[in-house]
Amino acid sequence: MVNIYTHPENHQRLEPDNTFRFQCHSGLACFNECCRQPTLILKPYDILRLRRRLGITSTAFLARYTVRIMEETSRLPLRLLALREEEPGGCPFLDAACGCTVYEDRPAACRLFPVIQGSSLTEGTVKAAYFLKKLDFCQGFAHGPQWTLEQWRADQGLLPYDELNHEWVAILLEQGARQPTPGASPGANIFELAISDLDAFRRFVLESAFASTHGIQGAVADVLRQNDETLLRLGYAYARLVLGLTDTPQFQAAVRSLASPPRDS
Ligand code: SF4
Ligand code: SF4
Repeated sequence: MVNIYTHPENHQRLEPDNTFRFQCHSGLACFNECCRQPTLILKPYDILRLRRRLGITSTAFLARYTVRIMEETSRLPLRLLALREEEPGGCPFLDAACGCTVYEDRPAACRLFPVIQGSSLTEGTVKAAYFLKKLDFCQGFAHGPQWTLEQWRADQGLLPYDELNHEWVAILLEQGARQPTPGASPGANIFELAISDLDAFRRFVLESAFASTHGIQGAVADVLRQNDETLLRLGYAYARLVLGLTDTPQFQAAVRSLASPPRDS
């Protein structure tokens, strides 16, 4: 079994039938405290939503708001949210008076909090585990309704995030299970281009020999030109191909399936 983002700090594990009381609002003395020093790994769909919200390219977003780090097990790059350098620091999207300025497009980890998620690969299947993280200063546990995990995830709008980030977790875990040698995994830069820097990946797909090599034309090309979520799905399929986690016929089948994708945006 391979694990990432499992949390050894003895947080209370949440089983499906467990409940917890929680409500976060601006009237609490702790309002914004949890956004002052977040350690936030941005997942591909987080980046997609945030850069669309801000109206900047993915390339500009990555340069301005993230720091590149290497995930230890898979030797694949991750993007950590860069905190504000000027005082008082904290999340760059935090406004002291108003709170989160990107609330409708906040990352998955912000939505899920005070729950945190761990993932493991067991017999080829990604398994998620959830834990309650009770920060000392967080007053949200003293108020509000009781939630099951599923109620909380639905209330916080996590379902599209989970759907579009799941493949990212799977690739990291599968690559980690192969125990890559030290140094970046071969294909690490393409992995990052294809899932994080979607504007650059779109140009690569549509304006290079990639399109003719992989039969991307007509309706598929139109969808990829317009729909970020479909482009991300192609990015996952291509990252798998480049990393050797899938073969060419499987990749081509994935490309063909893009002609009638779920429309998310
Ligand atoms: S994105 Fe919003 S919710 Fe998340 S840490 Fe930043 S300010 Fe807080
Ligand atoms: S209640 Fe908890 S989650 Fe909400 S602002 Fe306070 S510390 Fe953050």
